[in-house]
Amino acid sequence: MQFNELHLHPSILKAVEEEGYTSPTPIQQQAIPPVLNGNDVLGCAQTGTGKTAAFAMPILHKLEQKPLAERKKISALILTPTRELAIQIDESFKTYGKYLNVRSLVIFGGVGQQPQVNALKNGTDVLIATPGRLLDLIAQGFIDLRYISIFVLDEADRMLDMGFINDVRKVLRVLPEKRQNLFFSATMAPEILALAGSILFEPVKVEVTPVSSTAELINQSVYFVDKGNKNALVVDIISALTAPSILVFTRTKHGADKLARVLNKSGIKADAIHGDKSQNNRQRALNAFKDKSIRVMVATDIAARGIDIEEMEMVINYELPNIPETYVHRIGRTGRAGRSGQAISLCDYEEKAYLKDIEKIIHQSVPVIEGHAYPMQIFEVIKKEKPSNNRPGRKDAVRRPSKEEKVVAASNKGKKAWFGKRNRY
Ligand code: AMP
Repeated sequence: MQFNELHLHPSILKAVEEEGYTSPTPIQQQAIPPVLNGNDVLGCAQTGTGKTAAFAMPILHKLEQKPLAERKKISALILTPTRELAIQIDESFKTYGKYLNVRSLVIFGGVGQQPQVNALKNGTDVLIATPGRLLDLIAQGFIDLRYISIFVLDEADRMLDMGFINDVRKVLRVLPEKRQNLFFSATMAPEILALAGSILFEPVKVEVTPVSSTAELINQSVYFVDKGNKNALVVDIISALTAPSILVFTRTKHGADKLARVLNKSGIKADAIHGDKSQNNRQRALNAFKDKSIRVMVATDIAARGIDIEEMEMVINYELPNIPETYVHRIGRTGRAGRSGQAISLCDYEEKAYLKDIEKIIHQSVPVIEGHAYPMQIFEVIKKEKPSNNRPGRKDAVRRPSKEEKVVAASNKGKKAWFGKRNRY
């Protein structure tokens, strides 16, 4: 199928061509016609499938058709869980809509509200928002959602996992009853379907690549190595790679910072992105990664959710996650929109159990790289010291899960595995 078969506005097609897209992705092929037709849509698709364009393009098309006189108020609302995603969605609207007369604006928390309030005063057709800041600005009277004709709930599963369900319901209460609804989620657990059922009217259902099959596209490998040698090995691996951009996952924010320092010391330009960094810092790091002035981005799972780099070929798991779905989400960062990617994992003795769980859900075994410089030599779990109340530095002896790790754990399905027998803290 070609883009011009989708009956989108010629100016959108022009922008799409300039982006170098040759054909619509499966989610775009399936979702764009019903959205243009005015149907509600229930989309099961994760980030990386081209789902943003699947809703942004037809929304832009529809709003462009609206006479300017009817466009004094916000017509479309996109609700998304993280500020990084919100920014990316806004970038997509601006990219695909650059030859149209449709305005978009993004608002999110964690930064001062005044610039957003000022921008809102100039008016917008499309508002992209995270729930907290949206409700704040509605409460202060800066946002009026009574004229919304299209509502998109993006990444509904993460919205629920991150505890935004009540905020979503509050937003729904201030939307007009008569509207078109688009609902996207990577998973369709019963509670997600219940939420979808309460929002959508006779939706057209579209579905692409379930999470466990994403892995098939990606060339995966694992190095068995002792924890203490991971830094040296990861430096060796990265030095030998040709990939221009590499995303490295660590389990903790502290670990991300530490690894970025180690890489920089070895002459590999790197930065870390995680929840403790200010929004400005994160954006700066992300921009540096995008324009290739740094080669390696070290990220924790939550921070990485918003990262969308088009030519990412390589993901490295510095630590294996104890939730197998997290592994699939991580490596899915490479095989975007049908491209194939590569994923390398470093696995110490303790993490071997996680590797087994991962191999079970991806239905394949991950090839092991033998003959590297730091083969595994410790074949037992090294017990961590128990915290003692009178010993200085006890906080470092046994680490409790951070707030971010708890959110990641809660956002993955295998809650039992995290809080139960595999709780390693
Ligand atoms: P998304 O799933 O919306 O996060 O999109 C993933 C990536 O795919 C983004 O970097 C888009 O720019 C890219 N993309 C979206 N649609 C297409 C397409 N039809 N062809 C090639 N790349 C695309």
